[in-house]
Amino acid sequence: MPVMPREPNADFNSQELKQCIKALKEIDFELAYLALLTCEGLKPLSRWEKPLDEQGLQLLQRMGLLTKQIQRTVKTSKLILETIFSRSPGYIQLYEQRFANTPIDKSAETQRLEGFLFGYPACCVNQYIHRPYAPNNLPAEEQKILFHWACRDCKITPLLLPAYKKAYNLLNSC
Ligand SMILES: [Zn+2]
Repeated sequence: MPVMPREPNADFNSQELKQCIKALKEIDFELAYLALLTCEGLKPLSRWEKPLDEQGLQLLQRMGLLTKQIQRTVKTSKLILETIFSRSPGYIQLYEQRFANTPIDKSAETQRLEGFLFGYPACCVNQYIHRPYAPNNLPAEEQKILFHWACRDCKITPLLLPAYKKAYNLLNSC
């Protein structure tokens, strides 16, 4: 049964949301952080590459997120199951149409689409494609709460940071 997404941001501080985050943190801290950032709309879509059981999926859905498990292949022809989640069915569809049943690849084209879906600034994605982890001027404690590597003198990352910090603090308070 599909679960209807709740109104964006309406219950950001609600008790139920905090309960979901707390339970997700028990599964994995990073999963809970991704869920919160996606719930907040800072990430249009997130991908979880480790296994996730029904309880984990239900917690994401209770937070108002749509979830889908996507089958991928790797070179050894082994199958991998990714979990993607988003507030928007359009992003889920985009990911599924492009990546379902395809081999995992790290091409520039894939990194650009993933960056778009994951809410990474395009300037940072481009820099990363040309030179991964190039030195930036971001303090280490700010870089570590991001999922993208900020480009040098990024104009967008400093605008995102306050929202990421707010989510990170909420996560730690749950
Ligand atoms: Zn940038």
